[in-house]
Amino acid sequence: MQNSRRAALTLALFLSACTTPRVSAPPSSDQLVITSVRVIDTEAANASVPQDVLIADGRIAAVAPAGQLKIPRGTRSLDGSGQFALPGLIDVHAHIGEGGAMPNSEAGRERALRQFLRYGVTTVFVPGATGAGDADWLTLTERCRAGRFACPGLYGSGSLITARGSHPVSTIFNMPDDVPAAMTEARGVTVLDPGTDVSALIAAKKAAGVTAIKIVIEDGPPPWHPKPRMGDAQIRAIVTAAHALSMPVFAHISASDHVRIALDADVDGIMHAPTDVLPASLVRRMADRGMWYVPTFSLYDGILTWARKQREADPDALSGVNAEVIDSLAAAPFLAAAAEDEAGALGYLANASENLRRVAKAGVPLALGSDVNNPFVYPGYSAHEELSSMVRAGLTPAQALRSATIGSAKFLRASDRLGRIAPGFEADLLLLARNPLETIENSRTLVSVVADGEVISDVVSSGRGL
Ligand SMILES: [Zn+2]
Repeated sequence: MQNSRRAALTLALFLSACTTPRVSAPPSSDQLVITSVRVIDTEAANASVPQDVLIADGRIAAVAPAGQLKIPRGTRSLDGSGQFALPGLIDVHAHIGEGGAMPNSEAGRERALRQFLRYGVTTVFVPGATGAGDADWLTLTERCRAGRFACPGLYGSGSLITARGSHPVSTIFNMPDDVPAAMTEARGVTVLDPGTDVSALIAAKKAAGVTAIKIVIEDGPPPWHPKPRMGDAQIRAIVTAAHALSMPVFAHISASDHVRIALDADVDGIMHAPTDVLPASLVRRMADRGMWYVPTFSLYDGILTWARKQREADPDALSGVNAEVIDSLAAAPFLAAAAEDEAGALGYLANASENLRRVAKAGVPLALGSDVNNPFVYPGYSAHEELSSMVRAGLTPAQALRSATIGSAKFLRASDRLGRIAPGFEADLLLLARNPLETIENSRTLVSVVADGEVISDVVSSGRGL
């Protein structure tokens, strides 16, 4: 990896010193050139003149105006004429599952990982639960690295940490308060008891290969409220221990009051939108702290659009989704009740939209998270839904795309290699038939996806339907 990165950087430096095309490299089938494609810079909010993008060993080796690169013999070629290249999408709240209401399985996990790639989601952050606990994390990432199955780039928290008797153990999982650790860890959740050695716990997670810590600051969402919540001193102890090991802490919240607790404890980011409207004083504190905001509209939106029969009518939503996943949703009684509470869901979305407008205006950093594997929140497809939701809430397409690329890359502390199409960056990109800066739904006009330098053969495109 180091060598290929250095080779790519060397090539890039060499190129920038040249005025005439004279790049040469040994013939290699590992090299790919995308020709005459307009490259989107989500930071500058523009699309370039047609460029050739040379990819070698999973990295972007060179980007130059069309026709100026000398392409090494044996390089595979992808014609990007008339198309737009967008950096690979990064979903920073993606549990590894298929969006149904069924138990986690090895086969389901593999299918879910593949689905991300088919929709152009080339990197995910897994915030615990669903077969991505501390015990599974190293094995999973090693299998991906070994090419055992197709995976997006994986970052994750391992088992998320919650208080005993709290969300999601006593709520969604419906487990008793005295549930043994082995049972919650199997679901990717660490239950924190009073007196736990927090430093040792965080160190063990770091040793398990996780890249961040996820905690739950929640006293029970409806209809389970009230439930116990993690104490302020425990939250502070976790943050102190994680920061000492250079890991950020992200918190599940559901109310403005939880955001205040997170700010007081120096938490690095919050997941989900508060159900109430954030007061201006808290928005200011979030901006001053540089606290990450990941609104995850798709959770409620999934239920709403399903209730209105929109999603089942959209073949792009269900492409590759197993019939048993759909059946599992139809059989889950609590979902019918949730879908019937349309007024409740609409009220929540209105507040979530207002909160997004407030934090965006104040300059709070934004990352895209869909909360995949909640019911109807399908892997890959949901990132495009989340982009659309963010724009409906008031962001420009460029702001939404920035959150899904450079924003999410910074959230992962990986902005030196993810989120842009530039020499030295990982070769993760989407080729689109239309410009998503003009209309966000154009993010769905996929022609090709390149992940880690490999062309994904079975992409899902809405190009014809738009
Ligand atoms: Zn989640």
